[in-house]
Amino acid sequence: MTDYLSILAMAQPELAEDIKILRKGLAVLNAFKAKYNLKIPTAQVTTMENAAIGGYYQRSREELKVYLKHVENLNADTYQMQVEDNSVYGILLHEAGHAIADKYLDKEMPFGEKRLSEHDYPDDVSEREAETLRIFIDNEEKLRELNPSRYEYLKNRLKPVKEGV
Ligand SMILES: [Zn+2]
Repeated sequence: MTDYLSILAMAQPELAEDIKILRKGLAVLNAFKAKYNLKIPTAQVTTMENAAIGGYYQRSREELKVYLKHVENLNADTYQMQVEDNSVYGILLHEAGHAIADKYLDKEMPFGEKRLSEHDYPDDVSEREAETLRIFIDNEEKLRELNPSRYEYLKNRLKPVKEGV
């Protein structure tokens, strides 16, 4: 079966680059979920012109959604190893972060050493968790470098399925 994203990339060539980046995000997220045996809703991808937000996680509906919208200044270099990341890659991992936090994190994540990004609002624990998980999913060592306290917090709660994985 030709998948939805392939059809979309053919129908809307201007989304092809975003879709490429999104696919990397989906692969990274799936590997992370497998490593820690996490059960969260599968991301639904849709297009929306002029969406005010990039996506959302809604707890009551068990819904994780990412909007694909062509943004001129997005390119393949924006998605990885960036602390600020508003690409579909970053949005996907951020929203997945909300879902993981909802199901697997118990007490409040500490503020730790410093803010990580624009959306890591000092008084908003929920956004702190999502932004922290976004970076952790992308690159655990990066988070260890930036905010060791939050890294420790996550390491104490998310356990790999196999030792040494
Ligand atoms: Zn958020």
